[in-house]
Amino acid sequence: MADIYFLGTGGSVATPQRDNTSLLLRTAGELILVDCPGSVGAKVRKLGFEPGQITTVILTHTHPDHVYGLPSLIHSQMLIAGEIRVLGSEATVHFCRRLLDLFGLRRRKIKTRVRFQALRPGQTVRLGKTAEARTLAVPHHLSSLAYHFYLDEGREVLFSGDTPIHEPLFEDARGVSCLIHDAGAPDRFFKKYPILYLIHTSFLDLGRWSAEAGIGCLVPCHFLAEAASSAAEVRCEIRRHFKGCLIVPRDLQRIRL
Ligand SMILES: [Zn+2]
Ligand SMILES: [Zn+2]
Repeated sequence: MADIYFLGTGGSVATPQRDNTSLLLRTAGELILVDCPGSVGAKVRKLGFEPGQITTVILTHTHPDHVYGLPSLIHSQMLIAGEIRVLGSEATVHFCRRLLDLFGLRRRKIKTRVRFQALRPGQTVRLGKTAEARTLAVPHHLSSLAYHFYLDEGREVLFSGDTPIHEPLFEDARGVSCLIHDAGAPDRFFKKYPILYLIHTSFLDLGRWSAEAGIGCLVPCHFLAEAASSAAEVRCEIRRHFKGCLIVPRDLQRIRL
């Protein structure tokens, strides 16, 4: 059994309904945080966990909406002896080391120690006793990595992080239990701001590429508040091509695999 909790489902602009995107994975007795925007502690507690249970933080890239809460998470654990692994690309790890050092959060008085590990594209890393993750480079930002997770009982989840359509990712996603993918905005919004085609994915393109790749279960996220899309608009545009299982997540929603 593996659970995915959506701590947030929005883009860089947080709203009362959708905070910045981050995930909590529970598998093989491990609690793994994927991306670290603000108020992680409060959200984790709302779900019935404690932040001290998080063993690993996996980061997709260095844009603020994905890393700005990391100093606060470590600071909140300063009296608790323990260790948190923080994984990301070389550029992400370098950036986050400097970010924590700005706050003095790697000094000896901070009882929770941070163990950074830089990952190359294509590298596989062990998470706890049985789970693993393999990285894929995606073209959103120089620091960007997507993660293909191998969880309990053969469950596989691919999380794109922020990305435009990237063909190798859809090839990699064939056969996964669940593809969680950037879905910034409807096609109307991408046509108005074409630069978005270089950095994010429209609902329309996500539906088309997921249908062609034969994805079984698709979970769009990282909705841009600026586009003001309803969940019905997300579904309607993806459904123009994609006929498989489609979950448009709400904040704090759990998906059981
Ligand atoms: Zn983002
Ligand atoms: Zn980004």
